[in-house]
Amino acid sequence: MIRYALLVALAGALLPVQDPGPVGYDDTPFLPGGKWRVHDKNRPVPAVVTPGSGANLHSPPPSDAVVLYDGSGFDAWDKAWKQVEGGAMEVGGGDIATKRPFGDCQLHLEWRSPVMADKTSQSKGNSGVFLMDRYEIQVLDSYQNRTYADGQAAAMYGLKPPDVNACRPPGEWQSYDISFRAPRFAADGSVESPARVTVLHNGVLVHHDEPFLGPTAHRSLPEYAPHGPAPVRLQDHGDPVQFRNVWIRPL
Ligand code: MG
Repeated sequence: MIRYALLVALAGALLPVQDPGPVGYDDTPFLPGGKWRVHDKNRPVPAVVTPGSGANLHSPPPSDAVVLYDGSGFDAWDKAWKQVEGGAMEVGGGDIATKRPFGDCQLHLEWRSPVMADKTSQSKGNSGVFLMDRYEIQVLDSYQNRTYADGQAAAMYGLKPPDVNACRPPGEWQSYDISFRAPRFAADGSVESPARVTVLHNGVLVHHDEPFLGPTAHRSLPEYAPHGPAPVRLQDHGDPVQFRNVWIRPL
């Protein structure tokens, strides 16, 4: 019996985690174009690209940047997360949002997911960067972790997968460089121009001037409502993801 238990334990340690196959939904609304549903389980996942060694890490803030987090405290935020080694902060205790609202901007931040070997899909290193409090660029451990394509790391969540998967392994730092154009609304509340985003993940272009269809939603189609400048918000999805070196240039 003991020998058998040992064998099982050994096999579990040696065998790679099985690919769970398609993950996602087949009962959600179709995105415009009618090809893929929101979080479509059959939407192809992007090709894996190994980022270059620098991966835009330790990118120092330009002189006109507003430093949002450099390891010294939470003055720029509505509340504090835990500070950890290496000038980093760790998710816990709810979302945090900047005190200052922003619109058009260039945002740099670095993040890393913990090693969560027993978790899969959306339960593995999940957090998120919400531009204007509404438009999410997903943070997830997408290194050999299957999930629905529009929900993986660097996805415009629920809308568009990144063009490639440039995720580094859990425990390693990664960067996002985001340029964002706020939506414009007409006096009658209609959308003059949608929010648009360009994203580099670890220095690799993954969205190039892509429109948001509206504020990020889960399992449903987003819908715009007029709004002005709003905070950058970082998501607490229950996983101890870390962030460091967060700065923004209002445009
Ligand atoms: Mg998220």
